[in-house]
Amino acid sequence: MGCTAADVAAAVRAAAEVVAEHRDELVELDRAIGDGDHGENLRRGFNAVVSALDTSTPDTPGAVLKLVAKTLISTVGGAAGPLYGTAFLRAATALGDAAELGPAEVTTAIEAALGGVVARGKAAVGDKTMVDALDPAVRAATATSGSVAEVLAAAAAGAQAGAASTVPLVARKGRASYLGERSADHLDPGARSTALLLASFARSAGA
Ligand code: ADP
Ligand code: MG
Ligand code: MG
Repeated sequence: MGCTAADVAAAVRAAAEVVAEHRDELVELDRAIGDGDHGENLRRGFNAVVSALDTSTPDTPGAVLKLVAKTLISTVGGAAGPLYGTAFLRAATALGDAAELGPAEVTTAIEAALGGVVARGKAAVGDKTMVDALDPAVRAATATSGSVAEVLAAAAAGAQAGAASTVPLVARKGRASYLGERSADHLDPGARSTALLLASFARSAGA
């Protein structure tokens, strides 16, 4: 049994709740090495996504993700809006008009999301960005054969470890890079939010 558009919409709504719950934490992380808006940027964006889902019912998983992408691009400012928007847009495009998602489609979507973030932001692993969470998520998903829940659980674990790995790093991309060496010893807010989103998607899939 695969994930339908309704399952994906429910997962996005659950993710919006997680973003709201972690708003202050993400603000604090961004206050330490950025401008302190990451939690509020994402909360506002996902609130708008929930409103969009309240007024329209996309009929495929790809269409749900496309709505998420468009809404995030138009409501979230800063670096993360365009980056997450591009991630969801590439994932949507990779899914095409498939009616249901199995493990292979989920892996393809996460891979496409990483491709979008890298195309847009030009960050590499080790630059202390959301790529440090997404790249190991893709590698873990690709190495896992199993259900959608198992693939997402592996991706979430990869993202969690990848986010933790940003703590000692000196930022080479984004606002945190302006701090140079002083960006070390802090968790990257975008890597943290990526890990939170993937963990939420995994829980929604039943992991
Ligand atoms: P801003 O820095 O514009 O205020 P946010 O605070 O919402 O935007 O997002 C900051 C996060 O965006 C960072 O923690 C980092 O993970 C991510 N980020 C910034 N620049 C890039 C980039 N070029 N590639 C990938 N991720 C990036
Ligand atoms: Mg910021
Ligand atoms: Mg900002």
